[in-house]
Amino acid sequence: MSPAVPGPRSRALFRRAQRSIVGGVDSPVRAFRAVGGTPVVFASSRGAELVDVDGRRYLDLVNSWGANLLGGAPPTVVSAVRAAVRDGLSFGAPSPREHELAERIRAAVPEAERLRFVSSGTEATMSAIRVARGFTGRSIIVKFAGGYHGHSDGLLARAGSGVATGTLPDSAGVPRTVVRETRVLPYNDLDALDRLFEREGGRISAVIVEPIAGNMGVVPPVAGFLRRITRWCRRSGALAIADEVITGFRLRRGIVAPELGLEPDLVTLGKVIGGGMPVAAYGGRRRVMEVVAPLGPVYQAGTLSGNPVAMAAGAAVLDALRPSVYHRLERASARLAQAIEDGAASANVRPFCLQRAGSMLGLFFSDGPVRSLAHAQRSDRKRYARFFHAALAAGVYLPPSTLETAFVSAAYGPKEIDRAGAALAQAFRSVAGRPL
Ligand SMILES: *Cc1c(COP(=O)(O)O)cnc(C)c1O
Repeated sequence: MSPAVPGPRSRALFRRAQRSIVGGVDSPVRAFRAVGGTPVVFASSRGAELVDVDGRRYLDLVNSWGANLLGGAPPTVVSAVRAAVRDGLSFGAPSPREHELAERIRAAVPEAERLRFVSSGTEATMSAIRVARGFTGRSIIVKFAGGYHGHSDGLLARAGSGVATGTLPDSAGVPRTVVRETRVLPYNDLDALDRLFEREGGRISAVIVEPIAGNMGVVPPVAGFLRRITRWCRRSGALAIADEVITGFRLRRGIVAPELGLEPDLVTLGKVIGGGMPVAAYGGRRRVMEVVAPLGPVYQAGTLSGNPVAMAAGAAVLDALRPSVYHRLERASARLAQAIEDGAASANVRPFCLQRAGSMLGLFFSDGPVRSLAHAQRSDRKRYARFFHAALAAGVYLPPSTLETAFVSAAYGPKEIDRAGAALAQAFRSVAGRPL
């Protein structure tokens, strides 16, 4: 019998946290509600490993929700941060480090002719939508069910049960009037896209889409889906927003939308470009971005935007992202995916479906291929919960929900992959047999 995970210090600290922080967490998924149990409280991370406050070590397959592409505390990033700290923590005024990160991004993302830094992906998508509305003078925005674009009001929306019900808020506190201008379509549904644009194309300001969905597990676009979005946007004058907060700089040096058929007018980035610091950005065609203040009438600002310490971290990460890193990451991810599939098969765990895009892994306890949120939601949550806890006990930290993506980092070598594969094979054995 493995010792209870998490250990006594984690439990005590989480109890303490609940007395000052609402729910004990600063972001709801961290509370383990989807898998049950008590969250692990972490003390440090290094390379592929996390260490909790009880001294237990885990191979990290969350990697700060994808922000830590290089793993925990990469030495070059840490020393860049140290150097930046010595020069001051914040100026609230221009400083060279923001130019350095901006130029690196521009060189890798030619679609972002002009960009602006913000501090979270939520701000980036919220601002991109404001820009699209300001530029087009239209108000409707289109998103897809299962796509997550941060927690701004207009994006916390879900489709009503019929055309008559319209769009509904997906959170208390969001007024119906705010989501009235949001349309939510099923991901990968070309017919629904056609119908919407035929009906309302002239009033649509933007379509925002994750070119590879990473917030309902991993769901790639079907052939023609992103190209159809591009075509409708071109034809109607709406802007295409590629939300690459996850995929940007994770799957290649730059963005993936163009090679998948989406020609974005605006791009949002986050996670990897901050290397574990609070950094995100939005950018796009120069003519579009020049509606932003001070050049234009669209207001957007931030006290800590372009923070020099965070910028230094981002630039150091981008400097480390040579082709060899992506090759290593791809090899490690393919090998881990194979180990996971073998583990599920040899424990006879069915249904099970793994969907991978580079270093993004979606684990569904359902039949595949998964192409939409409705399908992703058929993944057996209870079985995933048992699998998650078995993996945790075996020393692997997976995302605490089957609807989240597991992220491999470049800190994984063959040794770590084998260890993770063996631990997950053991976890599969413990959930084998009839689902409860
Ligand atoms: C994480 C995420 C966001 C929101 O970023 P935050 O930094 O958490 O606000 C937006 N879009 C996508 C695709 C994301 O995965």
